[in-house]
Amino acid sequence: MDSILLFAGLTFVFYLWHMFGVTIGLHRLLSHRAFTCPKAVEYFFVFGAYFAFHGSPIWWATIHRAHHRYSDLPLDPHTPNNGIFSAYAFYREWHYPEHINPRVQSKDLLKDPLYRLLESGADWKLGYTINVVSSLLFRVILLVAFGPVVAGASLLAGILALNAPLILNIICHMPQWGYKNFKIKDDSMNNWLMALICVGDGWHNNHHAVPGSSNMGLKPWEIDPSYLLLKALQSVGLVGTINETLANENAHLAPVPVTVYRPTLKAHRKHKRDREMTSVR
Ligand SMILES: [Zn+2]
Ligand SMILES: [Zn+2]
Repeated sequence: MDSILLFAGLTFVFYLWHMFGVTIGLHRLLSHRAFTCPKAVEYFFVFGAYFAFHGSPIWWATIHRAHHRYSDLPLDPHTPNNGIFSAYAFYREWHYPEHINPRVQSKDLLKDPLYRLLESGADWKLGYTINVVSSLLFRVILLVAFGPVVAGASLLAGILALNAPLILNIICHMPQWGYKNFKIKDDSMNNWLMALICVGDGWHNNHHAVPGSSNMGLKPWEIDPSYLLLKALQSVGLVGTINETLANENAHLAPVPVTVYRPTLKAHRKHKRDREMTSVR
């Protein structure tokens, strides 16, 4: 019994590291530049996600920037409009789609030599193989150092933290599974269960309305654990400036404060024209 409790507790702790790694490291920091922090803090979160099999950080952020650029349009890399299986298993393409190019859309991230190394020259297969091998190696080290309970908990947590955001990509883009605070021209929805599982990222309609904001909760019940953690880290000096645009009453009217990509395609220009936002609050 004790070892089951220990296993469950460790899985939870590892899950928090991996999941905050996704929401804070890959998502709010690398994809959206929604706050600033020292490199050590950045790597702590980014590698939390990396060891949950999320692939090269540059790959993840570039795909995510494209998701915002083409939200729920045919060029969106994982919209459920192209099929639920296609949204979940978009990794199976094994390469960057033609319209997504980190050398164009993620120049800022390519400046980091470690991320460049993990990106393996945009060779997706090689980059992901390195990710899986190093993630498994991490568990082998845990196994040798601390035994099977710790290593097993870490592996399970990593698999769960890989799947939770993949499921969010589907649930939070299906109108029947949530509600909108902002009328925007995509299907992004707020879903409390996904917000709980994905430590805040499930307030997805708020996020699509103001992608550069570090806080994703707007209404009092829309608690965003990732934002609360960022504020706690800021209070002890581990995080610098935080973009809190969504806290502003007129957030939906403000321009998206962080330029995360360079528009290149006709579809994007059309999409942008279509996306005049109107608050329904
Ligand atoms: Zn989305
Ligand atoms: Zn985003």
